[in-house]
Parts: sequence; structure tokens; C-alpha cells
Amino acid sequence: MSGKLYLCATPIGNLEDITLRVLHTLKEVDLIAAEDTRNSIKLLNHFEIKTPMTSYHEYNKIEKGLYLINLLLEGKNIALISDAGTPGISDPGEELVRMCYERRIPVTSLPGPCALVTALTLSGLSAKRFCFEGFLPADKKEKQFILEEIKKETRTVVLYEAPHHLVQTLELLSETLGSRKICILKELSKRYETVFLSTVEEALVHYGENPPKGEYVLVLEGLDRELVKQEERDKWSELTLQEHMEYYFEKNLDKKAAMKCVAKDRGLSKRDVYRQLLED
Ligand code: SAM
Repeated sequence: MSGKLYLCATPIGNLEDITLRVLHTLKEVDLIAAEDTRNSIKLLNHFEIKTPMTSYHEYNKIEKGLYLINLLLEGKNIALISDAGTPGISDPGEELVRMCYERRIPVTSLPGPCALVTALTLSGLSAKRFCFEGFLPADKKEKQFILEEIKKETRTVVLYEAPHHLVQTLELLSETLGSRKICILKELSKRYETVFLSTVEEALVHYGENPPKGEYVLVLEGLDRELVKQEERDKWSELTLQEHMEYYFEKNLDKKAAMKCVAKDRGLSKRDVYRQLLED
């Protein structure tokens, strides 16, 4: 019988945030695969965990992944930890999970600290619908593509950012989005935890004058959905009803389907569209 892979969330600052289940698992497994063993040894020493450790990171994930898979197939239980927070969230982990599923090796994820969730809940911005972008890509074109998507996003957007890139990212957000509410959360669960709620422009001025230090999560307000819908309706209302129907005929829709789309675009009922078309 194969062993099991345990994804173990570790504290993002405050060591007291480790869960009892993670402590128990880290003590019980045969091996701990850690993103940075030099960093994780401090955590293990603090909790007097003597389990052997090996490295598993972005640059050895293929060979080390196969090595870990073989151990799991031999029946060994392995815990995966990252430097901080939940493995797989802007950290190595997802490939190993996939490799396990391909070989029918059981995997479980032990819930615990994650900067994304902690920041979102503390931001005061809507957590009903949100999306997570992680770090913006380094590639200029890709970054611009994501920024354009964020510009149209109606959900709350959560981003991770390194301190030395924060001002540049705020500049890009300000250029692309204009004035938008943002909550910048620093050093979550640590001594100098700070919540900075402002607009993107105000944040840019603030961090221009106070160079960022520490770890940051950016939570951006999404566009107002009703406003987006209204703008969409306004756009369509520049066409006559007949022109709007023809737009869909050109897309090979029949009369019934075109009427349905037109009604949806204009926020009308199909009956209203039908009646207005007869009147025109
Ligand atoms: N796996 C981690 C998680 O579950 O949140 C994220 C790892 S990612 C490599 C590191 C980024 O997470 C940091 O650059 C920062 O954006 C965010 N982060 C991690 N700990 C944080 C903290 N205590 N306060 C604010 N942001 C934090």
C-alpha cells in the first residue's frame, strides 16, 4: 500500500498559528519535504520536531518530485511544507499533487494559514466574489494582459507583491485602473501588522514617501457590477432595435434567438422587444 502526501500549512508570521493537526502530522510522517530546509529547520526546532527533512522547490521539482513519488509508492508518508502559508498557493506543491493523483497516491491538505485569506478577510472589501492573481508576471506583455483583465474585473482582486516591486506595481495599477479602492496589508500576524485602506493613487503617494519594507498583500475593489451592466446597456442603446437584431442575424442567429440576446443586452423582456419591433 502506498503512503500519503500531507500538504501542511505553516504560519505566515506568528508561530502560534500552527495547527495541532499540522504539528502532529509533522512529527508522525516519515519525511518532510520543505521549500527551504534552512528556513524550515527553525520552525521544526521551535516545535521540537525531529522528522528528517529534504528540499523540494521550484528548481528541483521534477527530479525531487519523482524521488518523493517513489518513496510514497513504497509506503512512506510525506508532509509538504513551504516557507510560509499553504503549499500550492504561490508556492511549490500543485505539480506534486498532480503526480500523486496520476499514480493513485492519496493526498490530503491540512487547512491553516494563508496570506490570501487572511488579507481578504481583514481588508473589509467584498469577500463574496473574489479572484486571486498571486504575483503579477515579470514579463511586460503578460503583465499588461493581466492588468487589462483586472481593469474589467467585477470581483475583488487579491495580489501578492514583494516590497521592492510595490511602488512600481502601484504605478501600473494607477495608470491602468485610475482611481480604485485598495487595501494594502503588511506583515500579517506579525508585530508590525498594518492595514492601509485608500485609493490606488493615495497609496502610490504614501509608499513613494515611505519606502515599503516587509511582506505585502494588495486587495483591490472590483468594478461595480450594476455600473458595468448599465454601461453595457448604454452601449447597445446607441443602436436601433432593428440594427441590434441585425447584429445577431449576422452571427447566424435566427429571429427567436436574436430577440432573446437583444432582450438580455438591453435589460428588457422578450415580449417588450417583440412589441417594440412591431411598433417600429
Ligand atoms: N503560500 C503562501 C500563502 O499561503 O500565503 C504564499 C507564499 S508567496 C511565495 C509569499 C507572498 O505571500 C509574499 O510576497 C506576500 O505577498 C504574501 N505574504 C506571505 N506572508 C505574509 C504576511 N505575513 N503578511 C503579508 N503578506 C504575506
